[in-house]
Amino acid sequence: MCSCSCKRLSATANLGDSAIADPQIREIFARELDRQTGCINLIASENYASRAVLEATGSIFTNKYAEGYSSKRYYGGCKQMDDIETLAIDRAKAIFGVDHANVQPHSGSQANTAVYIAMLQPGDTILSLDLAHGGHLTAGLKVNISGKLYKIVHYGLDPKTEQLNMAAIRKQAQECRPKLIICGYSAYPRKIDFEAFGQIAREVGAYLMCDIAHIAGLVATGLHPSPVPFGDFVTSTTHKTLRGPRGGLTMCKGEYAKAIDSAVFPGIQGGPLMHAIAAKAVAFGEAMTPAFKEYQRSIVANAAALAEALKSRGYRLVTGGTENHLMLLDLRETCPDLTGADAESRLEAACIIVNKNLVPFDTRKPTQTSGIRIGTPAATTRGMTTSDMKRIAEWIDRILRADDGEAVANKTAQEVREFAGSLPIFPDRPTC
Ligand SMILES: *Cc1c(COP(=O)(O)O)cnc(C)c1O
Repeated sequence: MCSCSCKRLSATANLGDSAIADPQIREIFARELDRQTGCINLIASENYASRAVLEATGSIFTNKYAEGYSSKRYYGGCKQMDDIETLAIDRAKAIFGVDHANVQPHSGSQANTAVYIAMLQPGDTILSLDLAHGGHLTAGLKVNISGKLYKIVHYGLDPKTEQLNMAAIRKQAQECRPKLIICGYSAYPRKIDFEAFGQIAREVGAYLMCDIAHIAGLVATGLHPSPVPFGDFVTSTTHKTLRGPRGGLTMCKGEYAKAIDSAVFPGIQGGPLMHAIAAKAVAFGEAMTPAFKEYQRSIVANAAALAEALKSRGYRLVTGGTENHLMLLDLRETCPDLTGADAESRLEAACIIVNKNLVPFDTRKPTQTSGIRIGTPAATTRGMTTSDMKRIAEWIDRILRADDGEAVANKTAQEVREFAGSLPIFPDRPTC
């Protein structure tokens, strides 16, 4: 009943009072607003930033060069740049309880690369999770700088449990004697034992980098154990569960502060994106509120509810379920003829957005895959609840099992759009 007014509200917030006059661009923006409003976004790495974060991202702070760091800039006129960056740093330090934070990395990949450039020599050994088991491309993809400069040794998931096997990882670390161990992943539905990783790193004399790109919001609110006591370096994105602007964050023990700062600038970047840093300060402020903790709790509750609902419909989830914000649905048992790529495009036709994903020990190619990754951070931002998750599971099931997939998807699209279109896309706008 309130659906139309909410839809109009979210539309006007972005376009109605827009200064963009160029009709070609307005038309593309309008289509994207329609997609973001009308679809259910289940991409585990995405979210909807608040209006305050969007405003800071699109602000006058984009007009300024500020190479260097607070009170050591290479440009005049940087007083406000110093103030906003210092605020962002102080908030990041308070949220995660770290000695040092660098808020300049343009993305999570840069946040990680800064650690490599600061601490490693070309040819040094990195021990990280196999990318086909959920590791990120910065953890040793052959064509990434990590794979080009360093010797990569991968650990895998346990073939039985599909989870990390700390005893096996310890044995591998003792054998390959890495300079750096990386933990933290893009598609792992279980908790990570950072303490055990810390012990192993100490035993073999390696640095430990904990990449919390996906789970930063959970860590910030105590819903996932913190890596900070155990990791020499903790890196993150700011745009996934943390719900800030697109960007990166490198945190470390005090002794590595200088090395990290000079690796970010001038090591791998020039001028910082001050508008993104301003938006990080805004997002970190939001992350310190009780409402944010409540939001993170709801993400986890929604993921658990969606996992249960899918399982009760006969689907197999990798590791049997989830303890965080995401799950991996293995299609091989229920829909053996459907690849992850097929499932992704069928669901998209029904306005349900997921991504294809390899399952551990997948025999299909990364462009096909046997699974899809499903996450709840974005849907939860829009106010979806555990009972909505049951409905979403029913839609997913209906679409994946349909003989005439396309027709069913088209019909389901109407229901999905009616439901999703009634929900706001801004977390700081009260829900209807
Ligand atoms: C998303 C992600 C990153 C960084 O991503 P960018 O796209 O470069 O911001 C790094 N590590 C992990 C584990 C990730 O999931």
